[in-house]
Amino acid sequence: MFPNMSTRVRFAPSPTGQVHIGNIRAAIFNWLFARHEGGRFLLRIEDTDRERSTPEALEAVMAAMNWLGLEPDEPPLFQSTRTDAHIAAAEQLLSNGLAFKEDKGGTGKGDCVIFRMPAGTDSEFDDIIKGRLTKKAEDMKDFVIVRSDGSPVFHLANVVDDIFMGITHVIRGDDHVENTFRHIALYKALGADVPRYAHLPMIVNAQGKPYSKRDGDAYVGDFRQKGYYADALFNYLSLLGWSPGDDREQLTRQELTDAFTLERVRSSASQMDLKKLTFLNGRYLADMSAADFETAASAYAGSPDWLQAGKAARFSEVCRLLQSRTKTLADVREWTYFFDRMPAYEQKAVDKLLRKEGVGVMLSAFVQKLGVVGFDHDSIESALRAAEAEAGLKEGKLNQPVRVSITGITTGAGICETMLLLGKDSVIARLTHAATNLCG
Ligand code: GLU
Repeated sequence: MFPNMSTRVRFAPSPTGQVHIGNIRAAIFNWLFARHEGGRFLLRIEDTDRERSTPEALEAVMAAMNWLGLEPDEPPLFQSTRTDAHIAAAEQLLSNGLAFKEDKGGTGKGDCVIFRMPAGTDSEFDDIIKGRLTKKAEDMKDFVIVRSDGSPVFHLANVVDDIFMGITHVIRGDDHVENTFRHIALYKALGADVPRYAHLPMIVNAQGKPYSKRDGDAYVGDFRQKGYYADALFNYLSLLGWSPGDDREQLTRQELTDAFTLERVRSSASQMDLKKLTFLNGRYLADMSAADFETAASAYAGSPDWLQAGKAARFSEVCRLLQSRTKTLADVREWTYFFDRMPAYEQKAVDKLLRKEGVGVMLSAFVQKLGVVGFDHDSIESALRAAEAEAGLKEGKLNQPVRVSITGITTGAGICETMLLLGKDSVIARLTHAATNLCG
């Protein structure tokens, strides 16, 4: 396909705090569409709400876009710098008789500028995702475009800026469908070409309600902080409402770009599935090169007490052992048992697996057997199986009590591999401590 340089799309967030995944998904779909078409992806900051558009809110938008690799192709346009152009457009409408002034509600605060909705004709447009959408003429009312204090209203600013930026396709959440009927009327009144529209379905929770923070992590910053990998979140959100038309679920950015079309965006709501995202994230982490994984894990870990100088070689070994099982980089925080002298025992795990009749005796028997064999995979395994057989337990039954004794938690790599990395002395010391002090 020849690059279509005339395709211009934009992400137009109103920075009001943290960046919701629904918003960033709109940015991703705009970005994918622009890249697929060989067009341009732009950013407009709709920062006219002076109270909510704080520097922190703007920083959150920029950080989220940067983290996800959503670089705009031109410098961002700040809507707050465009007031004169918005007012000029309102003047133009006034002088053409397409708007009028009125002291709305007779408050005495001064006149608003009101846009005159064309009477008598139904409004309709072909949404690329939702198909033909119609609104009856009698349901379309005149509306304010400039407030009595002289500030332009969202509808006017949004349309005037889209015209200014040469936007050809407006891809945004379907909470804007109602606005679009007004926006189309404004485009026509201003003598501009109406762009194509693609309204994205809502992201919902398991009950079909808009997905919010109450349902789980909902902001881009949360996912970053919790150790999700940017490419995995990008991939997951791309598939939230869109599919490549086959059953691929793990796609590179290039594959997503190649396959992306707006026609294949579903018109029904998309359900957020955190488990699926976490699973996909684990696959991304598992697929990284060992060196890249170590870099990412180390960057995430920072420099906590347990990872002091001299522990780098061990950190590499632990990375190799646990990479394929890591779901999010935050799992790194559980790795302390490889570095501290003793594990931090999780009370729930201790209660469930160690505080039981006979466990201490079995662990002691295992320690005895370990003491007299070599410390390699097969010897450890045989000692474990022998201790189980002696206690009349089924094979594998001692794995979890042993795991909790040496790591303090219930998840991790294979039990023998974990012991090998910890080393014989440490394993024996921990098992003995557990058998003596923690078992029932
Ligand atoms: N600032 C609006 C929003 O974030 C813009 C919508 C749009 O036209 O993309 O909902």
